[in-house]
Amino acid sequence: MIYDHILVRYGELALKGKNRTAFEKQLQRNIKHALTAHPTSKIKRTFGRMLIEIHDEDPKEMLEKLKHVFGISSFSLAIKTENEEEKIKEGALQAFLNHSPKAATFKVSARRTYKPFPIPSQQLNPVVGAHILRNTEGVTVDVHNPDVEITVEVREQGTYISCGRIEGAGGLPVGTSGKVMLMLSGGIDSPVAGYMALKRGVDLEAVHFHSPPYTNERARKKVEDLTQILTKFGGKIKLHIVPFTDTQKAIHQHIPSSYAMTVMRRMMLRITAHIAENRGAKAIVNGESLGQVASQTLDSMYSINEVTNLPILRPLVTMDKQEVIQIAHHIDTYETSILPYEDCCTIFLPSDSKTKPSREKSNRFENRFDFQPFIEEAVQKVETVELGPASGKKENMIDDLL
Ligand code: ATP
Ligand code: MG
Repeated sequence: MIYDHILVRYGELALKGKNRTAFEKQLQRNIKHALTAHPTSKIKRTFGRMLIEIHDEDPKEMLEKLKHVFGISSFSLAIKTENEEEKIKEGALQAFLNHSPKAATFKVSARRTYKPFPIPSQQLNPVVGAHILRNTEGVTVDVHNPDVEITVEVREQGTYISCGRIEGAGGLPVGTSGKVMLMLSGGIDSPVAGYMALKRGVDLEAVHFHSPPYTNERARKKVEDLTQILTKFGGKIKLHIVPFTDTQKAIHQHIPSSYAMTVMRRMMLRITAHIAENRGAKAIVNGESLGQVASQTLDSMYSINEVTNLPILRPLVTMDKQEVIQIAHHIDTYETSILPYEDCCTIFLPSDSKTKPSREKSNRFENRFDFQPFIEEAVQKVETVELGPASGKKENMIDDLL
């Protein structure tokens, strides 16, 4: 292994002053957290880059973990050399030879941020390029469409040389946008909604409604597993499990069947809003998509939304199911989501749900019975579990860059 660093690049646009420092510090913490299983790696912040020292660790695993860290635009394995022309030339040659023996064309992109180094960027490109040409056969320079781009960054601490780059997850570092409460069912949509919210940098906690004995332990375990998968992107996540059986029974007894679904959603939202406020979350996230099912028409959303003033974020609102499924595959939640366990929403519910429920009727039916004690008891009996990123678990490996 010729590499001794990983060079991390992140989007710097729109980041100014204090914001920028907070962004970088949070990203640094998140990277450290993602690399918990690699305790000897040191992470330094420098001029719009993060540099991770590799010691005895397996860099393949580290690269896999970095792919999930939001806020990173791209990253590369890098060789560090001293700021000396000969060492830089040799380092670039080694990086090129190591990268891909089959590469026929290359390009050098040098960047000198350390001005005392005597060779300016524009002159360094041909100097390094000529050294590679002299020491290889059948290789040529192609500045427009090279097989390999060799980047050479001359910085005060040393020169970092890398070949190729791995695309990062993009987005903003988790923890830079405030906290949200995700309504997490065991379905396909809500884990994807959670992933997309995390991508915009929120801290996330999740709420799950279950109705034992109508929903079983395996259904609960499934939601814990989905939360566990999301921790790859969001670090530790608290999952609040709400006992919902008594409220559902009360709805079944006291609400006309055509409004049972709407009222059930309103109850879920009231309880979620309570928990969100207790936990300092500023918004609720769910997996609704416009027009997908009866409860997701605009009329339904309008009636259900009435019970809280918290913003409800719906990252999937304009997506087709196929687009959502594609992301579910990408983030690895799909196989877990399709396990066939009962969700609390599906029990007790009739098939004659209104697609255009009104606020006025929802309120009228709810006022015939005192649901408040049920809401309070559900909030009070919430059980919270904290899930964290599994350390040391092997995932798809990156081979082509080593
Ligand atoms: P999903 O695939 O996320 O289950 P869905 O397409 O099945 O969504 P609904 O059943 O109408 O749609 O649920 C809409 C949203 O309500 C879900 O995306 C989720 O955010 C929330 N929700 C549904 N059931 C539960 C539950 N048991 N606990 C927490 N939130 C839930
Ligand atoms: Mg569902």
